[in-house]
Amino acid sequence: MAVNKNIIDDTFEPLTYDPQYILMVNQLKKYFPIKGGMVSRVVGQVKAVDGVTFNLKRGTTMGLVGESGCGKTTTGRTILRLAGEKTGGQVLFNGKEVYDLTNKEMRTMRTKMQIIFQDPFSSLSPRLPVGEIIGEAVREHNLVPKEEFNDYIDQIMDNCGLQPYHKARYPHEFSGGQRQRICIARALALNPEFVVCDEPVSALDVSIQAQIINLLKDLQEQYKLTYLFISHDLSVVEHISDTVGVMYLGNLVEYGETGDIFKNPLHPYTQALFSAIPIPDPKAKKNRIVLEGSIPSPANPPSGCKFHTRCAHCTERCKTEVPVQREIEPGHYVVCHLYDK
Ligand code: SF4
Repeated sequence: MAVNKNIIDDTFEPLTYDPQYILMVNQLKKYFPIKGGMVSRVVGQVKAVDGVTFNLKRGTTMGLVGESGCGKTTTGRTILRLAGEKTGGQVLFNGKEVYDLTNKEMRTMRTKMQIIFQDPFSSLSPRLPVGEIIGEAVREHNLVPKEEFNDYIDQIMDNCGLQPYHKARYPHEFSGGQRQRICIARALALNPEFVVCDEPVSALDVSIQAQIINLLKDLQEQYKLTYLFISHDLSVVEHISDTVGVMYLGNLVEYGETGDIFKNPLHPYTQALFSAIPIPDPKAKKNRIVLEGSIPSPANPPSGCKFHTRCAHCTERCKTEVPVQREIEPGHYVVCHLYDK
């Protein structure tokens, strides 16, 4: 297996491919340079993704949660090679290092790895009718014979709850929910195996959110899709995900099966996030953990445990020593000194 040339971490150990996983992410890093001075020198790095590791089983959904600015979206985009070169680590898709592919190989791979964005309006060309938006890439990649093209697009649209007469209409003629259906149809038309759903329902009305989530679930079953579902809405993530990763300042701090994480959140950050989920029982009492301050800058992250500046359990050790990942129950991992034996 090719080992990445741009690994910046001595502790990095290359992965061995395990076929049960469609996606294997190992110590993934994406830093953005900060330039300054007269000659525009690099004076620092924004460590947006700083060593993220997880494996994703075929046909399952992994939820990626955390506050704004924690690196969720950059992680998704870096996996899809949409954020330029990675800084370090590995992304194996079906056992192939995505960053070792040539441009031609990447073009083919793109059909297998799709993304659905948060804002359906700005991700749709206002000048193209919907049929053209959905079919453009299908034609470009020659995915179906010419004579079957129209029926193929009709079928995809039907599966996404759109009518054949919608093909001639333009994005501005649709509601937010319908526009998101168009985005989903566009992604699905390429017959992908893996889809990054980047906050796909946050811009929609609550009443429409459930429809889109149910559509994504139905399509997953029908097309055997694997999702990385990025969201800050924990109720939605609980509903759709099989596994959950909690991100803080570029790192996964907790990872496990959805049931385990929601029943027994271990990391103080996860506990604070989950304590804010509303419960539909007016009599039930909830101990809300309020996090002080905002998320620190990824350009200058705190030493030791990155969460120590906001953690109620912080000790002197937390300020200097980076915690390591521990498996507390089968498949349930946490990165916190509280769980050191
Ligand atoms: Fe809090 Fe320390 Fe655990 Fe970090 S390592 S989350 S500061 S207890």
